[in-house]
Amino acid sequence: MSGHQDTIVKFQNIQKTYDGEVYVVKNLNLDIRRGEFLTLLGPSGSGKSTCLMMLAGFESPTSGLIALDGKALNHTPPHKRDIGVIFQNYALFPHMTVEENVAFPLLIRKTPKHEIAKKVKRALDMVQLGHLGNRRPAQMSGGQQQRVACARALVFEPQLVLLDEPLGALDKKLRESMQLELKHIHENLGVTMVFVTHDQGEALTMSDRIAVFNDGIIQQIDDPATLYDEPANEFVASFIGETN
Ligand code: ADP
Ligand code: MG
Repeated sequence: MSGHQDTIVKFQNIQKTYDGEVYVVKNLNLDIRRGEFLTLLGPSGSGKSTCLMMLAGFESPTSGLIALDGKALNHTPPHKRDIGVIFQNYALFPHMTVEENVAFPLLIRKTPKHEIAKKVKRALDMVQLGHLGNRRPAQMSGGQQQRVACARALVFEPQLVLLDEPLGALDKKLRESMQLELKHIHENLGVTMVFVTHDQGEALTMSDRIAVFNDGIIQQIDDPATLYDEPANEFVASFIGETN
């Protein structure tokens, strides 16, 4: 109440170097609010994916602390984090059917067998693919494959979903309809979403807040209108002002 914002994720003094020399994330501090749609926006190479991968657990911070619900995550493997991930290239298992792909996170989390079919059906219905469960990824369009990836990320009802340029490979029209679909899912489930993009327009239309990255540093974090009207520095002003 009284304007208090509940924090779900805390990045505290996070630094990351892959080679021991160049820091691609530099002393990053970030509070993610429960239930928000937060976008990490910035040019290629600015450290957005690295931040997402550290939160998902696929990369480790060189120093600093990441906490989920107040608990430090540093030694928690990815599948023990209550986090769903959607990648740009979908990363579906080609030898599995759609249903098997979506069931996979439930299997590794040892979900009771009788619940699996029900949860898979619910997740596929949510992305309007209930009728294509027996297909394999190669038999589906790019948009459909991304919907499967979305169902797979949501099927275990994580409290946090990470999306790394999920719409980058789609054409403009499909991208716009998928943007709306993701927003609906965000609103209907009340789940926290962290979305990575280098597309200013996409960030401005989808986000509750946007963190503008450049060179491993958050330049500004604000709601879209404030970013647009009151950019904190030259970089933010020119990057937000760019149109594709
Ligand atoms: P973004 O997602 O904003 O494009 P990344 O987080 O992918 O940026 O990359 C930030 C920097 O880290 C880039 O210079 C990139 O080349 C480097 N980098 C990313 N992943 C690796 C890796 N696995 N090994 C070495 N360098 C990497
Ligand atoms: Mg990236």
